[in-house]
Amino acid sequence: MSMPTTPSANGAAPVPQSAVDSERDVYDVTIIGCGPTGQFAAFYAGLRGARTQIIDSLEEPGGALTAIYPEKYIYDVIGFPKVLAKDFVAQCDIQARRGEPTIRLNEEVLELAAVEDGLIRLTTSRGERWSRSVVVCAGVGAFEPKRLTVPGVRELEGRGVHYFAKRVEDFRGKDVVIVGGGDSAVDWAVTLEPVARHVTLIHRSKFRAHEATVDELEASSVDLRFPGCEVTAVHAGDDGRLAAIAFKDGEGAEHDVACQELIVAIGFVADLGPLKTWGFELQKNQIVVDKITMGTSIPGVFAAGDIAAYPAKFKLIATGAAEAVTAVNHAVTFYDPKARLDAGHSTNIMEKRDKSVAVSPVPVPAD
Ligand SMILES: Cc1cc2nc3c(=O)[nH]c(=O)nc-3n(C[C@H](O)[C@H](O)[C@H](O)COP(=O)(O)OP(=O)(O)OC[C@H]3O[C@@H](n4cnc5c(N)ncnc54)[C@H](O)[C@@H]3O)c2cc1C
Repeated sequence: MSMPTTPSANGAAPVPQSAVDSERDVYDVTIIGCGPTGQFAAFYAGLRGARTQIIDSLEEPGGALTAIYPEKYIYDVIGFPKVLAKDFVAQCDIQARRGEPTIRLNEEVLELAAVEDGLIRLTTSRGERWSRSVVVCAGVGAFEPKRLTVPGVRELEGRGVHYFAKRVEDFRGKDVVIVGGGDSAVDWAVTLEPVARHVTLIHRSKFRAHEATVDELEASSVDLRFPGCEVTAVHAGDDGRLAAIAFKDGEGAEHDVACQELIVAIGFVADLGPLKTWGFELQKNQIVVDKITMGTSIPGVFAAGDIAAYPAKFKLIATGAAEAVTAVNHAVTFYDPKARLDAGHSTNIMEKRDKSVAVSPVPVPAD
């Protein structure tokens, strides 16, 4: 007997009934993307009493602010005359957590399909997630680390070659090579210098990291190979793990460096990737939405922030926050048609729920 199926609202392959019947942990609102828009949407969904999960392929919250410009000042977000992107993200994180969302980092959403009982199934790099509504806050797509393209490097990923380094202790007593010249590369070099046996930093131009960290780097024992230096090969040892790298200097001379660990921090690329195939109406890599509701062409799925397209759109943090409010309010009335569209002011809602609302002090640097 063939397995019964349910149609997919976005025209994708039908969903097998067995998947629908299996045990599911259903959320009211799922937010795809933990950039500033997704973070604010998570807070707001919590404010509306929604059981919320937020999913991001990156290992840290903050979207573009964390991946591209953590050390840059922002001047045009409400309430902060001048704030470093990473400090702003930290405050957004505190605010998002007031909504008590389940935060799933390091997890990419690969597929989205609506199933017959009003639920939406998300297939991710870690399994299946279920939701009554979805708010897509995916910016310009999932950020992926830029990869080295030298021969043999793919095979050594996880065996000495890292794109996301996490635990300092993994590098204790090792010979470490770091590639890159931005904040991430320079931060790792300075952090590992007192822990590793030897740290070499290879970069092809000048360092773009925060001035104070570059000063720290230059005063350290890190072996600096720049400008004009590029990795040309990686070599495995008999145990199948990384044993050495080769690099070319500015004059074209080749050098070998014995190392057990290689951290590649040469930036990120964004790609709409799987999202393109979910059935949305797209316009220049953005999802077309109804400006009144932020609804997409898939029922129950809304979009906000840089990913959302409508006439006279501004791609700014401030506008993303406003769109998140609209999207969440309409998501709530989608899965609960009796709910009010406008929940009123946050003070009334929060104080009713929690008499002791703690407001954390916000560090605003002086000029
Ligand atoms: C250099 C630079 C400077 C800027 N300066 C300013 C400024 O001064 N002021 C201002 O207002 N704006 C500024 N912007 C714009 C601002 O950064 C964006 O408007 C803002 O980041 C949009 O937030 P977002 O949450 O919509 O998207 P993003 O910040 O791009 O976050 C999207 C998140 O979604 C995740 N994601 C995407 N697809 C998936 C998937 N399939 N599965 C899981 N996760 C996924 C991504 O990994 C990412 O973390 C600047 C942008 C740049 C590049």
